[in-house]
Amino acid sequence: MTATSARITAVDTFDVRFPTSRELDGSDAMNPDPDYSAAYVVLRTDAGDGLEGQGFTFTIGRGNDVQVAAINALRSHVVGRCVQELCADPGSLSRDLIGDSQLRWLGPEKGVMHMAIGAVVNAVWDLAAKREGKPLWQLLAHASPEWLVSQVDFRYIGDALSPDDALRMLGAGRAGLAEREAMLLERGYPGYTTSPGWLGYSDDKLTRLAKQAVADGFTQIKLKVGADLADDIRRLRAAREAVGDGIRIAIDANQRWNVDEAIDWTNALAEFDPYWIEEPTSPDDILGHASVRRVVAPVKVATGEHVQNRIVFKQLLQAGALDVLQIDAARVGGVNENLATLLLAAKFGVPVCPHAGGVGLCELVQHLSMFDYLALSGTTENRVIEYVDHLHQHFTEPVVIRDGHYTAPLAPGFSATMREESLAEYRYPDGAFWIADRAGQEDAA
Ligand SMILES: [Mg+2]
Repeated sequence: MTATSARITAVDTFDVRFPTSRELDGSDAMNPDPDYSAAYVVLRTDAGDGLEGQGFTFTIGRGNDVQVAAINALRSHVVGRCVQELCADPGSLSRDLIGDSQLRWLGPEKGVMHMAIGAVVNAVWDLAAKREGKPLWQLLAHASPEWLVSQVDFRYIGDALSPDDALRMLGAGRAGLAEREAMLLERGYPGYTTSPGWLGYSDDKLTRLAKQAVADGFTQIKLKVGADLADDIRRLRAAREAVGDGIRIAIDANQRWNVDEAIDWTNALAEFDPYWIEEPTSPDDILGHASVRRVVAPVKVATGEHVQNRIVFKQLLQAGALDVLQIDAARVGGVNENLATLLLAAKFGVPVCPHAGGVGLCELVQHLSMFDYLALSGTTENRVIEYVDHLHQHFTEPVVIRDGHYTAPLAPGFSATMREESLAEYRYPDGAFWIADRAGQEDAA
């Protein structure tokens, strides 16, 4: 098969689940017992070059099979496509998937179907970067502004961001790119850690991990809040004592509150100087976020990990509803839509601090922040990528954190590839771990 006529031959999907609920890793006020999971997709081709495109959506257990089914529903749009054309213009596939008139009824551009689109689109970007022999951040940063603009769907956001705006910002963003790239390769991109702050951890574990985070070079940590105010006051006091005054502590309510409650609760924690309150209320409540923000300042309002598309981000920005915008690599329709959101954030001058953790979200989103630093916003000031130190061992190119910074990945692709051994072990329900687990439960019964 010659390179120009190679086609996508298969879209293989995997339901992968990790038993994280047993250690309360990832526990928060709304999600007390998550089993971190991935609806994982592999694009195979007949190019004969050994390259595949990997992508996934993150879920927290039950429903991962629904997410896999949604990816399977997209298969007919992808199989048979010319690999070269697909990789030269992932935006064309993105538009076709979003535009499937029957599947669109299930959204539009939100929820399970849209996340499935994100998984497939991200897999195409992974394949495109591998074929270029570059990590995705570098492919994006070195791409022409015109081509990047061609990859953005301006539908429904044109009132806030025009193609001309985008072209101008990306053109200006190129000044100093080589210097920033050298700096990125030397120092990495700043991160912050949520590992100390899961709600299910004891105060001793919280204190120990908070001190460890500072020793590891992090300048910001994050605590989950919102289940019980007295507990939150005690935990935040312990965390503040552990890290001292010079370290930022963000707090995250995971959508637990009504607007009034969010205001009262955040004010009750103000003495511990929280840097931002994350997801104070429903991710769909744009005006509610704006109300919270007006009252709790100087505490900043952050949201985005459950924001379903660029249109909601546009409104959050237009309404002055957030201080910190948190993109997620696997929540929306993939790289193309995240490009739109990064451009919107740049237009409104709002810093982007991505959501990560989960399964592989750190691996993915680092590429988008590094692109943003090199070729769009041009700065890492007040910008940090979330870091959580679990499940990285299941990826062939796990993130590398050094002195509180994400080291720029050098392997070609989007760092999305899971290890074959991990797939064999944690495939649900037929992976070795889950078979043994069921056998153990039957023995105990
Ligand atoms: Mg969060």
